[in-house]
Amino acid sequence: MKKISVVIPCYNEGKNILSIYKELDKVSKLTKDFDLEIIYVNDGSRDNTIIYLRNLAKKDRRVRYISFSRNFGKEAAMAAGFKYSTGDYVTVMDCDLQDPPELLLEMFVILENTEYDCCALYSDSYKNYSFIRRICTKLFYKIYSFLSSYKSHPGERDCRLMTRSMVNSLLEFYEYNRYIKGIYNYVGFSVYWIKYDIPNRTKGNSKFSFIKLFKYAVEGITSFSTKPLLISALVGLIFCLISFVAIIFIIIRTLLFGDPVSGWPSLACIVIFVSGVQLFFLGIIGLYLSKIYLEVKKRPLYVIKEKEKDLFN
Ligand code: UDP
Ligand code: MG
Repeated sequence: MKKISVVIPCYNEGKNILSIYKELDKVSKLTKDFDLEIIYVNDGSRDNTIIYLRNLAKKDRRVRYISFSRNFGKEAAMAAGFKYSTGDYVTVMDCDLQDPPELLLEMFVILENTEYDCCALYSDSYKNYSFIRRICTKLFYKIYSFLSSYKSHPGERDCRLMTRSMVNSLLEFYEYNRYIKGIYNYVGFSVYWIKYDIPNRTKGNSKFSFIKLFKYAVEGITSFSTKPLLISALVGLIFCLISFVAIIFIIIRTLLFGDPVSGWPSLACIVIFVSGVQLFFLGIIGLYLSKIYLEVKKRPLYVIKEKEKDLFN
């Protein structure tokens, strides 16, 4: 029998731990083709998540858990889950049931009966998200596709069922600034896409604030594209050309009409505008520099405080 590892990142998800466990248990009872390994990754929750995980792991041998010493983010939680997974196939699912476990049955059949290496979910409706988040998400995918050479599928989710060889390739990525959707696309492999409507979060609120999402978007773009640097250079070049034309224009005008002292307000506006543009692009360069700074330190992606004893030695 094949084994599917289900990686579940959890951050303050005490109310959802049992719901997703029950759904996964239901799914596993519907088939004899695969067994489950459920790996919860407690990403420094401050609620009672860890208590639920300890109890579940005692009750059911299929349940495993890793607990971080603090909140390291969903990307780090997924990386840890992939590392400790042992299944023939591996998937990652949100703890709030927004990636429906019953889809595992369909995804498994597709991977078993075709040559695809990955079966991924996407959605084009974000009706459960706020208006602002919907707009920003769509905008992000547009900007990302324009800037990155590794095309992403609009509305793609982190959730997908992958073969062991694809997961092994993900484990080769040690980068600190992680954007898993970019890594999925970078490693290639053939992907079968399934469209679905994202259901409502079961309990609790989204763990991604606007600021966290903004940082995530910047992370995604800077991890997989250096085009912003090229754009800065191009804009710099355009400004040089404009100033060259302006200089010639002013010289000719002065020769023809003399040099009356006027026009300083427009000059002030130009100086402020150009300094603003310069600072903006310096900021972009700084962003890339800060990424290099963090990468060269080679800090661990996460720190594990507690894990299930017998399984992860
Ligand atoms: N999550 C995490 N660490 C974080 C933020 C989120 O492990 O710092 C987990 C969270 O518990 C959930 C999944 O990532 O299982 C997706 O989070 P959420 O549902 O809040 O995101 P949204 O659906 O709003 O994008
Ligand atoms: Mg969610």
